[in-house]
Amino acid sequence: MNTPFTATVLGSPRIGPRRELKKAVEAYWAGRTDAAALHATGAQLRAEQWAEQKAAGLDSIPVGTFSYYDHVLDTAAMLGALPERVASVADPLDRYFAAARGNETIAPLEMTKWFDTNYHYLVPEISPATSFALDPSRLLGELAEAQAQGVPTRPVVLGPVTFLLLSKAVTGQGEGSDAPLLDRVDELVPLYIDLLGRLADAGAEWMQIDEPALVADRTADEIATARRVYEALSAAPKRPAILLASYFGSLGDALPALAATGVEGLAVDLVAGADVIATVPALARKHVVAGVVDGRNVWRTDLTRALNTLATLLGSAGSIAVSTSCSLLHVPYTLDAETALEEPLRSWLAFGAEKTAEVVALATALTTGRDAVAEAIDASDEAAASRRTDPRLHDDALRGRLSALTGAARERAAAEVRRAAQAALDLPLLPTTTIGSYPQTREIRVARAELRKGVIDEAEYRRRMRAEIADVVALQEELGLDVLVHGEPERNDMVQYFAEQLDGFFATENGWVQSYGSRCVRPPILYGDVRRPAPMTTEWITYAQSLTAKPVKGMLTGPVTILAWSFVRDDQPLAETADQVALAIRDETVDLQAAGIRIIQVDEPALRELLPLRAADQQDYLGWAVGAFRLATSGVADSTQIHTHLCYSEFGEVIGAIAGLDADVTSIEAARSHMEVLGDLNAVGFDLGVGPGVYDIHSPRVPGVDEIASLLKEALAAVPAERLWVNPDCGLKTRGVAETTESLRNLVEAARRVRAGL
Ligand code: GLN
Ligand code: ZN
Repeated sequence: MNTPFTATVLGSPRIGPRRELKKAVEAYWAGRTDAAALHATGAQLRAEQWAEQKAAGLDSIPVGTFSYYDHVLDTAAMLGALPERVASVADPLDRYFAAARGNETIAPLEMTKWFDTNYHYLVPEISPATSFALDPSRLLGELAEAQAQGVPTRPVVLGPVTFLLLSKAVTGQGEGSDAPLLDRVDELVPLYIDLLGRLADAGAEWMQIDEPALVADRTADEIATARRVYEALSAAPKRPAILLASYFGSLGDALPALAATGVEGLAVDLVAGADVIATVPALARKHVVAGVVDGRNVWRTDLTRALNTLATLLGSAGSIAVSTSCSLLHVPYTLDAETALEEPLRSWLAFGAEKTAEVVALATALTTGRDAVAEAIDASDEAAASRRTDPRLHDDALRGRLSALTGAARERAAAEVRRAAQAALDLPLLPTTTIGSYPQTREIRVARAELRKGVIDEAEYRRRMRAEIADVVALQEELGLDVLVHGEPERNDMVQYFAEQLDGFFATENGWVQSYGSRCVRPPILYGDVRRPAPMTTEWITYAQSLTAKPVKGMLTGPVTILAWSFVRDDQPLAETADQVALAIRDETVDLQAAGIRIIQVDEPALRELLPLRAADQQDYLGWAVGAFRLATSGVADSTQIHTHLCYSEFGEVIGAIAGLDADVTSIEAARSHMEVLGDLNAVGFDLGVGPGVYDIHSPRVPGVDEIASLLKEALAAVPAERLWVNPDCGLKTRGVAETTESLRNLVEAARRVRAGL
């Protein structure tokens, strides 16, 4: 075996410490710079990163985890599996971006969540006509760059099993197909063998092949296929040592199967997963790369605890390296970029650079003894102790309130009782409404920027937001919508807005992480007990309500979505944190009701997102997620109508939970799936109000009256008129004013027409 390394990370962030790559690709897309400039930025970011990782003390550095858009798309490009429709784009870089983003004539690939993270990958489309062919130029080029720089390299690619399991089978016409793609893995094996040979020729001693799909539930056949693939790859005539990497959970049954193959190394996630190395005797001959530093969350590693975990592996693995549990793609670059972060909170955190240092400290402790890193261990112990005892993490009053709650706090009266009490809202059949946000106009963005820069003061900012609200209310009156909203102009983001007002959250200045392509997000850090020091939304909603006699719907973000789009504390079960957030939202609903608001929407677009990868864990999750939503929404009177909104996902696996939310009205994305979701809801006995989206807001296209009316008629075939609402698929904040005005005009007209025919 090649010399086993001791300290590594499974992958690196690529957007740039100051989002340089975002700016560079966007400049290229806009035609402001050329490909040479983009490549130069990429090369520089890689070189800086490798230099830092080497200086930090990693003795094996991942190469090839950089990407101009997405690593799954890179894999598709490497395997000759870009969709047929981009073949006409002559330039390879433009062809790649056409697959990612589309252009005037080409539809992009679909995008979906990378396992249970907030990163989105592009879904490769594999058709019977796809003929795989290896193009290793990108990887070989980056490898040569890194070698020239003198860093200890380890090329990384996505493995063939995961690649096929994440891809979508299509017919030649781009339609879906049921053929299991994994059947085509034998076409990929020779390409990977070829790649192994080329990497060996180029001087690579180790290579990492990622197979994260093996931590989800897999059939015995799929596991057998994976084993067969790695037996074949490890029998390649000429190759580097293979590190087969898993992350985001336990390999379970796949672990012994993979350990039985000839691969030299296995990377296991010991943060999200719980694989026990000692139970697999074959691992005594392998290099085990132990992911003990959490690659997905921002907490400082408890080095003492991590060393204890590592100690348990010593007798069971052939050799050990210390690593992050997954790629550092999911955390910000460095704490150094945070100037407003005070102690002790700072001492509790570790971003990418700090996690890399932790990996090195742990590896040093293993190879040279704890004394060599005594200082780091002391600092870690101190931070852990301070985090355990900090009063902000344990608010006794709040905890007392939560433990005094009974089941009744999550129950509302029976649906018919509520329906009768809500009749006073006096809504027509097929009431029309929107999901909350209206277009975030230039004026709104300018006002927010000016407030941040100190050009305008808080009072002027509020005045401008009120003007926006007044405009949006007037527009809705003019359009004839039945249930109005205030338009959410004051919200930069539906989670951050609440995080900024709740105790227990910290908003970073530069904690950017890639969400997809050039899009980055800055998730707040939920570090302590969550409390609501003051009402968060009443001022805006009641102002909107004061301008109209029609009901204005108050808008809140639900507990699960707030957790999903934050970095959450890891020192207590997520269910407990969810209830704390839920209680804050509940207090807000009670305040809104007291201020005269009769309809309140609690958005949960991320309900599906946090669903665990393994079926065995899903019921527990859905139980507490639904419980938290109900805690948030059961504090109001029967006469207050609770809405929720769901989008961004396939609802199949959570459909029962949607019914469990018990919201009086659920608006749900449906325009693209043509009302199929209504049948699914019926199948689980859902009998509350439902507004399947009849206007696809992901496209600038204005839907016609006939088109919306026919969707409504389709909906009426599945749902009685008494339960049907009429609304778009999602919020309108990314859309233009002209197109939304016209679309909503058509929506109201279509509802009137269908209503008249009832
Ligand atoms: N109320 C939010 C809005 O309209 C909901 C956004 C969402 O579903 N993502 O913008
Ligand atoms: Zn939505």
